[in-house]
Amino acid sequence: MNRHLRRRLRRPHVWLRSRLAPRAAVLMYHGVGEVDIDPWGLFVTPEHFAQHVEVLGATATPMGLGELADACRTGTVPSRAVAVTIDDGYANILHRAKPILEAAAVPATLFAIGRPLHDATEYWWDELAGVVLTPGRLPPTLELSVTDRRTSIDLGPAEHYTETQWRLDHRYRDEESRAGDRMRLYRQLWQLLMPLEDEVRDRTLAELARWAGCDRPRRETHRSMSIDELVDFDGELTEVGGHTSTHPLLPDQPADRQRLEIEQNKKHLEAVLDRPVENFSYPFGAHDSTSVAAARAAGYKAAVIARPETATASTDPFRIGRFDVKDWPGDRFERQLDRWLRYQ
Ligand SMILES: [Zn+2]
Repeated sequence: MNRHLRRRLRRPHVWLRSRLAPRAAVLMYHGVGEVDIDPWGLFVTPEHFAQHVEVLGATATPMGLGELADACRTGTVPSRAVAVTIDDGYANILHRAKPILEAAAVPATLFAIGRPLHDATEYWWDELAGVVLTPGRLPPTLELSVTDRRTSIDLGPAEHYTETQWRLDHRYRDEESRAGDRMRLYRQLWQLLMPLEDEVRDRTLAELARWAGCDRPRRETHRSMSIDELVDFDGELTEVGGHTSTHPLLPDQPADRQRLEIEQNKKHLEAVLDRPVENFSYPFGAHDSTSVAAARAAGYKAAVIARPETATASTDPFRIGRFDVKDWPGDRFERQLDRWLRYQ
């Protein structure tokens, strides 16, 4: 018998009360726009996003994340409460998502990464996809010097990326289709780049573009917001929250680096926006007790993770779960939302 079932049988009234308590769902988005290849399923089309927002307006109680965290704290979570959150800070969120949110008066929190604000570049995972996930040939071997290690990759069948395979990989998701050879190469390079310091990763991306014989991608569909755009986004209904300075995997960092990542990003955003920034999102949803303590010490009021679970009166405001919303049409989104609000 599993642990949960045992607990349920021992204290059925406690379990039942927790099942009947009003649950709030926090939704997680990244980009709103039309993109041709989306290896992580991060983008929702503006058409689908408008349908999601319409469903929220018609069937849920949309509220700001801060308001939702307060409701958890005071045990006053309303029925079918939903908060929209958006990670990273793609420029398309200002241009494509904000007008939709405003028209329907649905609040949202955008968690912005510190550094890319100075120049509207692409996030490293997109830049890598722009170089590797383009149909055509790449040189048969890749020699990379990452920090003091040299990595040599023999591309094998990934060398030639056909239009057909590219189309198959178009909206590749882990659970829906098997990765082709080039997609596997992308994932391998992603793993290699992920733990690097920003400057080292940037040098490596430049090296990769040279190796592939292309320019570093600077696509309008994928670029991050500039400082002015971030200021434009921040308002009464749509607000900006923190997401660290360089988007590292926090639990892999020593405590002082975790603190710095969280504090510097918060200070930077507050200076730019000229108001306190109160909500935070752990990059990749990854956190440990040090990250939680650092977010709290920095003065944040609430923080979100990426575990798909609803928030209730017993939820820790520094570990609020979220549901990853995919590029679904409105009816499928509505079914998913019902399921989340009822069971998770
Ligand atoms: Zn992120």
